[in-house]
Amino acid sequence: MDDTYDFVMAGGGAAGLSLAYHLRRNGFVDERVLIIDKDDKRSNDRTWCFWSADETDFDQIAAKRWSKLAVIAENTQVLELAPYTYTMVRGVDFYGYVKEFLSRDANTVFLTAVVDEIRDGDAFAEVVADGRTYQARWVFDSFFVPRNFTVDTKKYHFLKQHFTGWFIETESPEFDPETVSWFDFRTPQNNEMRFMYVLPESPTRALVEFTLFSADLLSEEQYENALKAYVHGVLDIDRYVIHESEHGVIPMTEQPFPRRGGRRIMYTGTKAGRVKASTGFAFNRIQKDSLAIVASLKAYGHPFRVKRAPRRYRVFDTILLQIMYRRGGESKDVFTRLFRKNSIHRLFRFLDEESSIRDDLAIMVSVRWGLFIGAWFRTRILRKI
Ligand SMILES: Cc1cc2nc3c(=O)[nH]c(=O)nc-3n(C[C@H](O)[C@H](O)[C@H](O)COP(=O)(O)OP(=O)(O)OC[C@H]3O[C@@H](n4cnc5c(N)ncnc54)[C@H](O)[C@@H]3O)c2cc1C
Repeated sequence: MDDTYDFVMAGGGAAGLSLAYHLRRNGFVDERVLIIDKDDKRSNDRTWCFWSADETDFDQIAAKRWSKLAVIAENTQVLELAPYTYTMVRGVDFYGYVKEFLSRDANTVFLTAVVDEIRDGDAFAEVVADGRTYQARWVFDSFFVPRNFTVDTKKYHFLKQHFTGWFIETESPEFDPETVSWFDFRTPQNNEMRFMYVLPESPTRALVEFTLFSADLLSEEQYENALKAYVHGVLDIDRYVIHESEHGVIPMTEQPFPRRGGRRIMYTGTKAGRVKASTGFAFNRIQKDSLAIVASLKAYGHPFRVKRAPRRYRVFDTILLQIMYRRGGESKDVFTRLFRKNSIHRLFRFLDEESSIRDDLAIMVSVRWGLFIGAWFRTRILRKI
């Protein structure tokens, strides 16, 4: 193997594969691409959901698409999504689909190896994987190592979105396959933001996920007990089997993430802060970021000219993180109000960081003023966490 490439993806998960995919789809057909991952990505290590009003590149591998979302607390709000849909893609289908697409040309090489080191240079960067060195004009580094990640908690919030989900099958029809329960708050809140997330694939099959936005993780038993209590006590389902389970921890912080690892190294994915700080969603953001990198390469010959979201979204993320951190028990009220007083389309625009000032004002006034102003005052004026 010749060890010189145009692009090396150090990490071939969502960000590495998405970028390679969008490069090939957008004119970078002759460039040599090496994708290095320590895992062969043949198992379903996660399930992604995202919303979109337009067709997406991954509609054809969607495991399920929904037209309604429900938010459940004391009352149930059912939100009609059209023209949006909420789509679920299994990790294993995404990896298979993108790898098959990339394997059609001989210029893409996949390597299963552990990246040990990435070294910057003037004209090339070097990636050392399993003891061998590869050179590239550009290296995109997307492997995020939680134990190496630190947040300055005097200046920034550091919460985690953590969850355990069960793919369950019931004996009798129990679910409405048209409707995702996005937030079902019928689980003890313990002064934190806690909810159940139910993704029904059919009347008898669903992914049921116990999700928390909080600073500390729970024990395995605590996630499982909450799921059992919800399935039995709230959904009133006694007979079911668990086919698969998933567990995840996603960092939530407004601390800025560096994009540059050097002259020839760019960070992408979680490592580059592509996870939305206040929600944990990243899949769509990674697609948009990949397209922005491709556009920068085309226009400027380097990948770094990617537009940042307007600053106000970081302020909003900070305020939401503050409410979840200090007043976690009130998150249920905040979120149910947001959905009651705003259309889901406005909320999607806001979460996509594409809202108008009018949208933003409407969203701000729909949160209890005292809570919003208190969080703003503490974080922006007192500069406290
Ligand atoms: C369980 C789970 C569910 C999620 N669900 C959603 C969702 O529904 N919607 C949404 O928008 N976001 C979701 N996210 C958040 C986000 O979309 C994902 O975390 C996404 O995979 C991030 O992409 P990434 O490329 O940054 O990281 P990853 O996809 O994790 O890719 C990083 C890759 O680096 C590889 N790697 C690590 N260390 C090395 C090394 N030393 N050498 C070589 N390779 C290495 C890993 O094997 C991995 O393949 C979820 C996250 C998790 C964990």
